[in-house]
Amino acid sequence: MGSTISRWAAAAALAIWPLALSPGAWSSHAAPARFAVIDMHFHADRPDAEGPPGGKICAPYADWAPRDPGRPIEDYLDGFTVHPTCPHPLSAPSDPAELRDRGLAALARDNVLALAGGDADTVEDYRAHSPDRILPAAGFGGGDDFPSLESLRHLHAAGHLKALSEITTQYAGIAPDDPRLEPYYALAEALDIPVGLHLGPGPPGTAYFATPKYTAAAGDPFRLEPVLLRHPRLRVYAMHAGWPMGDAMIAMMYAHPQLYVDIGVLDYAYPRKDFYAYLRRLVDAGFEQRILFGSDNMVWPDAIGIAIRRIRGAPFLTPHQKQLILHDNAARFLRIPG
Ligand SMILES: [Zn+2]
Repeated sequence: MGSTISRWAAAAALAIWPLALSPGAWSSHAAPARFAVIDMHFHADRPDAEGPPGGKICAPYADWAPRDPGRPIEDYLDGFTVHPTCPHPLSAPSDPAELRDRGLAALARDNVLALAGGDADTVEDYRAHSPDRILPAAGFGGGDDFPSLESLRHLHAAGHLKALSEITTQYAGIAPDDPRLEPYYALAEALDIPVGLHLGPGPPGTAYFATPKYTAAAGDPFRLEPVLLRHPRLRVYAMHAGWPMGDAMIAMMYAHPQLYVDIGVLDYAYPRKDFYAYLRRLVDAGFEQRILFGSDNMVWPDAIGIAIRRIRGAPFLTPHQKQLILHDNAARFLRIPG
C-alpha cells in the first residue's frame, strides 16, 4: 500500500510542479465572490407545500414533544405547527406571490445565490422574478410523481436544470439505492449535474400525518454507498447531513471524498446545542471543506436569515470555516468559476 501511495505521490508531484511555478499562479488574485452565501437547499414552494397554508415552525424547537397515540393526531400537530409555544415561531404567508417575494427578499438581504428545488413551473416563476439569484433545480420523489427523463433532458437543454434536488424519496420509503432512482443517477452523471438527496429527518411523526411511507431507515447514509460506487463521476450531496447518523455519515464522507452534505433545516429549526454538536462533529472529523450551507426554508422565508446567522454565530468555527460553509464549498461543488 505504501509503495502504491509513493508512486502516486511522485506522479502527482511531477504533474503539479510546472503549474505551481507558472507566473500566473503567483500573480493572479481571485476576484471577490459575487455572492456572500450559497443556499444549496432553497425550496421554491407554494404555500400549501408543507400542509395547510399558514402553518408555523419554531426557530428553533426546544425539544421534540411526545405524542399520545391515544389522542387524535391533530392534538400533536397543534403543538408542533399550529400553535407552537416556542419563543420564535415563524409564520408562513398564505399568498403565493407574497411567499415568493419574501423568499427572494430574504435572499437579496444576505446576498444569497440559491439552488432552488421545486416543480419546474414554480422554480421558473421564482427565477423570473430574480434571475440572478436562482439556479433552477428539479425536486421530486415525495409521491409517485417521478418526472420523465425526457422532461428533465428538455429542461436541461433549455438551461433550466442545474441539479436534481431535492430528491425526497425517503418520504415514500424509498432509499437512495432503490433501483427506481437508478435512471436519474445515470442521467445526472451523463449531464454532469449534481444530485441532492434528502437523507435523514422529516417532520417528527410525519408518517402519522403527512407521508405514511416515510421511514427513518430509508435515510441511512450507508444506502448511498452502492450509488457512489456505481456512478463514480456523480456529484452527490446528502441533504440534512444524514442527521442524526453522524457515525455513518462520517464513514461515508471518509470513504467517498466526492460526497458533500448540507445542513438544511438543522440550522434553524433544531435545538441549538444539538445542531452545533452535530456540525462541530463533522468539522472536527475533518470535513470542513465538504459541508454546504442550506436553509431548507420551505414556506418560511425568515428561516434563511436565521440559519445564516446561526453559522456566523457558531463559537467553534473560525472565520475561514464559516466562509467555506456559507459559500466556498458550494462554489467548488457547483463548479462556479471564481
Ligand atoms: Zn429535505
